[in-house]
Amino acid sequence: MRYVDPQTLDQLPGTRLEENDTFRFRCHPVVACFNRCCRNLNLFLYPYDVLRLKKRLGVSSDHFLEHFVDVVLRDASFFPEVLLRMSADAEKTCPFLTPAGCSVYPDRPDACRTFPLEQGVLFDAAKNEARMVTFFRPPDFCMGQHEEKTWTPKTWELDQEAAVYHRMTARWAELKRLFQQDPWGAEGPAGPRAKMAFMALYNLDRFREFIFQSSFLTRYAVKPVIQKKIRKDDTALLKFSLEWVGFFVWGLRSDSLRPR
Ligand code: SF4
Ligand code: SF4
Repeated sequence: MRYVDPQTLDQLPGTRLEENDTFRFRCHPVVACFNRCCRNLNLFLYPYDVLRLKKRLGVSSDHFLEHFVDVVLRDASFFPEVLLRMSADAEKTCPFLTPAGCSVYPDRPDACRTFPLEQGVLFDAAKNEARMVTFFRPPDFCMGQHEEKTWTPKTWELDQEAAVYHRMTARWAELKRLFQQDPWGAEGPAGPRAKMAFMALYNLDRFREFIFQSSFLTRYAVKPVIQKKIRKDDTALLKFSLEWVGFFVWGLRSDSLRPR
C-alpha cells in the first residue's frame, strides 16, 4: 500500500483500474514463471498480516517479530515499516515458499493476495478525504497477465478472499496517513510512546498482557463486552489497538475506551 499524490496519479507505473475495469490474469503451476514472484521482495507486512501469520505458524508475536521480519525506520518517517525477511539464499526466497508453492497460502499477506494488483491510498488534502485506488502492475516476467481469464478488482478480491485483509489494511492506512506528520515531538520516533504504539499494532500478545496485567484498565475504562472479546480474539484486539493508538497518539475519539 502506498500513498498516492493526486498531482502525480497519472504518472505512476501500472494501469489504473476503476471498479468495473477488467484485467487478464491466471496463475497456475504450469506457468514457466511459477513461484518466481515469491523471491527478492520488499514485502511489507501490515498489522493484520502479522496477526494471521503468527497464528498460522503457531508462534508468539515476539517470536514472529524476532525471526521473520525486519523493522525499518526510514529517514524522515515517523513510524517503522515491517518487512518480511527473505531467506539468505542467492535468490532471496520468501521463507514460506516450498517447491509445492506457498506454505502459508490460507494466511498469506495482503500484498500476496492483491497481486498482480496494487492498492494505494489517494489523499485529497483540500477535502481531507482518502480513498483507495487500484493499479494492475504485474512484473514483466509474470506470464499470468497473458492468460485469457478476466477479472474486475472486486471479483479478484472475492476469489482471493482478500476482503477482510483490505478492510483491516484500510483501517491501518487511516492511522498510517497521520504518521506522515511527526506526532512524537522531542522524544522522536524511537521514543517510548512510539514503542508503545508499535507494540499495540504489531505485537498483540504483548499488548494483551499489557492491557490485563498492568494498570491499563485503571487508567482507561474499557467496556466489559470489549474486554471479554479482546482477551481471546486477536482480530478484536487489533481493532481495539487501532482505536487505542488513535486515541493515545492524537487524542482521536474512541467508542471502545475512555480515560478514567
Ligand atoms: S509470476 Fe505471475 S504467473 Fe508466474 S507464478 Fe507469479 S503470479 Fe503466477
Ligand atoms: S507469503 Fe506465500 S505467496 Fe507471499 S511471497 Fe511468500 S510464498 Fe509467495
